Amino acid sequence: MLEKVIFLGTGAGMPTRERNVASLAVILNDSGDFWLFDCGEGTQHRVASVGLKLSRLKAVFITHLHGDHLFGLPGLLATRGLQGVERKIDLFGPIGLENYLDSCFDYSGTYIPYSYQIHQIEKEKFYTKRLLWKNGSDSVYCASLNHHVDCFGYSIFEENIKRNILTDKLLRLGIKPGPIYRKIKEKKQITLEDGRILKTYGFVKESKNIKKICYCSDTLFSENAIKLSKNADLLIHEATFSSNEKTEAEKSFHSTIEDAIKVARRAKVKRLVLTHISPRYHKSEENYHKWNIFKEEATRQYPGIILAEDFLEIKI
Ligand SMILES: [Zn+2]
Ligand SMILES: [Zn+2]
Repeated sequence: MLEKVIFLGTGAGMPTRERNVASLAVILNDSGDFWLFDCGEGTQHRVASVGLKLSRLKAVFITHLHGDHLFGLPGLLATRGLQGVERKIDLFGPIGLENYLDSCFDYSGTYIPYSYQIHQIEKEKFYTKRLLWKNGSDSVYCASLNHHVDCFGYSIFEENIKRNILTDKLLRLGIKPGPIYRKIKEKKQITLEDGRILKTYGFVKESKNIKKICYCSDTLFSENAIKLSKNADLLIHEATFSSNEKTEAEKSFHSTIEDAIKVARRAKVKRLVLTHISPRYHKSEENYHKWNIFKEEATRQYPGIILAEDFLEIKI
């Protein structure tokens, strides 16, 4: 069951005292298994700081090959090896990811002792939203975004079927609560202690539990971001700039607050988080004024909006 997300880096371009570069951890279950989305420089420090274990890292999804989303990956994978982790890992990202990692490991003489599978994503196949990977009850969808290099948005869709016992009906048959209830929940047919055969259909009610998270960074306003995040519980969208710096946003293929809100409204998401915030808005003294403008615009335009901060955790 998708548990929560932890923001490991929420700044754009370069790290500052306040925000590290892009990375997001998605915690998959209460054993601490997790995936990473983007892996900017220094991500492994953040992983350690929040108490996540690299042995529990099962997959990494890179949106694009810009350094603020990627430079932390070779080091993190090397550390995972030094820690003696043997579990296989899946790595997803644009074409070029494999060459980049091979070169880093070759030139630095790094040996990775566990197996890793690189799944390179071809833009041509993801012009529109499509299934990228299925892992247990989680499906990851992917679509091309609008940046000045190949860049992909991801959404995780999780569907769990919950089976609830209809206690009243069982009691009417004289079947009292006990270990037998578990069997009824799990099996199609059981034999009761008195020898009666019980077909469990009709005594169990199934309900679907659906969760959906979407991560879009970096991009101009994109229709694909809407498709990916349709009805999501949580949309994490980049907003590098406030809307009065739209020209700069367009020049650098980034979103403004307004762009991110437009996606959230049209996709009817339940919660919107803004991340990948330009260092010009980081709260150091000289920028405090600009941060206030950024924050004021976001909260005025979209009540309930969440402005990501490093180490922020959100339950799903
Ligand atoms: Zn970036
Ligand atoms: Zn970028």
